Amino acid sequence: MSKKMLKFVDVHQETPVKRQTDSRKRDFNEIYDQYITDKAKEQSSRCSQCGVPFCQIHCPLQNNIPDWLKLTAEGRLKEAYEISQSTNNMPEVCGRICPQDRLCEGNCVIEQSGHGTVTIGSVEKYITDTAWEKGLGKTTEDFKRIK
Ligand code: SF4
Repeated sequence: MSKKMLKFVDVHQETPVKRQTDSRKRDFNEIYDQYITDKAKEQSSRCSQCGVPFCQIHCPLQNNIPDWLKLTAEGRLKEAYEISQSTNNMPEVCGRICPQDRLCEGNCVIEQSGHGTVTIGSVEKYITDTAWEKGLGKTTEDFKRIK
């Protein structure tokens, strides 16, 4: 087990910053800011790497959530992205609008034990957006080859 994981007792749950209404009412941008890298690593490290990961079991796509949380905590963004998108054609969408409170996050084992869920959706969004910013996402040419 990576020493970077299982931090849920010491590290409290933290979502990305919610923008103030004064600025939100002036544009159509997102309500929540993006995680910065250190925060994504920190929040991912709260995962207890469950032997029976209820987050994954309750994901309609069976996303391999424990693995990409661990890879994010270790700073291995490319691998985290590859695993995330291997079961999901649109992680950038699911990270934003999937009902995580009733699926992965709602069934997270540390949520059930009263520690507050791992912020899975926000980490998923971070992984995808950051991978794309770094040019790690699939290009149109890649998709043509897949067809
Ligand atoms: S259920 Fe929660 S703590 Fe367990 S592997 Fe999934 S995200 Fe990690």
